[in-house]
Amino acid sequence: MNRYTVIEIPFNERDRCWFCGEPKDKIINFPRYSSEETLLSHQPICLPSCNECASIVKRSAFSSLYAYRDAIKKALAAKHRKTLSIGSNWTKRELEESELEGSAFEGFKRSAWSMFEIIQGRINFKGWPLVINNETLIIEEEHQSFDFDGVTYVSLDEAVTHAVKTFHLDEQLFTRVLSVLGKAKFGQCIRLCRLYPALTSKNRESVFLEILDSIGL
Ligand SMILES: [Zn+2]
Repeated sequence: MNRYTVIEIPFNERDRCWFCGEPKDKIINFPRYSSEETLLSHQPICLPSCNECASIVKRSAFSSLYAYRDAIKKALAAKHRKTLSIGSNWTKRELEESELEGSAFEGFKRSAWSMFEIIQGRINFKGWPLVINNETLIIEEEHQSFDFDGVTYVSLDEAVTHAVKTFHLDEQLFTRVLSVLGKAKFGQCIRLCRLYPALTSKNRESVFLEILDSIGL
């Protein structure tokens, strides 16, 4: 279901994922949950994505599309770290001229560099300008800092990452609760979610509803 206006898609980009440039599989809503709209620094939108980019980041409550894109790129780099290391450990020439032989290595030489180039291209892909109804969508590149517990974090996302690590929170639960309660109640969100450190995808949804219920929402 498209909840928002789809960004304009230039003819040359018509089949591509906005995040990584691979063939697109679907149109996604940003933000994922409508409760997160209040955390956003710009209007909500729909945009094309491949299945991998659409599902690789599990948490929500991002303050902008750029923050979400950064999280996707980080997750892609972590997932494909082995492939990316080919480019750090070898140059294309070294690989071609390598004296190592044997059928396994021959196969590796043929496919490894092109696999590396595909992942590198996806991570470096910059998307295209975000235009809705002939108007360019302005997203502040500069992070808006966020204060919590006397510390100024460079962004809300940075504060979320810190809180998840420090208080051993379930990241998906915490970001969903945060998107409903709002960033003004960041501390309360931590207190509520600390009670449920280890969740499975099965019981996360019922815990989320239980929390909403406990605070009368
Ligand atoms: Zn993608």
